[in-house]
Amino acid sequence: MYSTPLNGMDHQQLLALCNAAGVSAVHADTLRAGLFRHYLKELDAIAELPLRLRRYLAEHCYMFEPLCTATREAADGTQKLLLSMADGREVETVLIPAAGRLTQCISTQVGCAVGCTFCLTATAGLTRNLTAAEMVAEVMAGQRLSTQKVSNLVLMGMGEPLHNYDAVAQFVRMASDPKGMAFSPNRITLSTSGLVPAMQRMIRDELPCNLAVSLNASNDQVRDTIMPINRKYPIAQLLQTVRDYIKVRGNKRVLIEYVLLAGINDSVEDAHRLTALLEGMGCTVNLLPFNAYPGLPFQRPSDETVSVFRTILVQANIIAVVRESKGREIAAACGQLKTEVTERRKSGL
Ligand code: SF4
Repeated sequence: MYSTPLNGMDHQQLLALCNAAGVSAVHADTLRAGLFRHYLKELDAIAELPLRLRRYLAEHCYMFEPLCTATREAADGTQKLLLSMADGREVETVLIPAAGRLTQCISTQVGCAVGCTFCLTATAGLTRNLTAAEMVAEVMAGQRLSTQKVSNLVLMGMGEPLHNYDAVAQFVRMASDPKGMAFSPNRITLSTSGLVPAMQRMIRDELPCNLAVSLNASNDQVRDTIMPINRKYPIAQLLQTVRDYIKVRGNKRVLIEYVLLAGINDSVEDAHRLTALLEGMGCTVNLLPFNAYPGLPFQRPSDETVSVFRTILVQANIIAVVRESKGREIAAACGQLKTEVTERRKSGL
């Protein structure tokens, strides 16, 4: 009887619901505001709904709420939540405060099939895609935990968003719906490992969000080894798609993410090759010094190496920012909290 999660419904679906319940379409707006603007948990809290619609919703729909199975808070205010979905599968979401904004990092899949060798999420492979309702529920869970309003969303948590295109596109449209969650498209960033066909679809669909590309190498030889997806969509093809995106989306600035791995991709030659690759694209580069984690065969570069790398980019007129993983002591990198909790459960602690 209880079949459809309300928090995964876009405006068209809410309209269809009102139609099926035999009430005016205006109540779709009331629902949107109550569910997605005010993040109300209970339908009873939405005062203006007619009784007929309430009854219909009670019979046919439910509000999906994940169970929070672990939380961590770091000294810098970063909060990490482990959320258990209806089938018991767990994903992470992270709230990252910074001056004047609160960014939430959203997971789009349980696990990931891409297999980047520096990523803990990759170690268990892909279990399943998340639904749009589950992604909306992540935002709701994050928002309920914080007194500050979540202002930015980054789809950079567990999973490759473009491997789950339909649900992610639905979520992005709902998140940017001005009468719903009302995030500015400029404050939603989708990060991909470089699925070229899905990026092209994203361009065609004019998905209302920014694009970030996880590049992490300056040549195919290295990228092939740390990001196997590169064997299918090598750097030249990937960056041509980024150029197409920039051309179609006008003055959109694409974010290039570059995890610095000691002795792998952090040399002076790498920095020069990267500047050549990005020449004239107007991209911003986020440099992310790797945080060593047991079981992963990589090390963090020295601060000097990071600084030299950045300087080479800046001297080539590329905006390059070093981003430290916020909340390092609470296992803030993707997949760490889930791995730690799973290990603890196994050992009965
Ligand atoms: S870095 Fe992202 S795309 Fe790569 S394996 Fe991890 S979650 Fe997947």
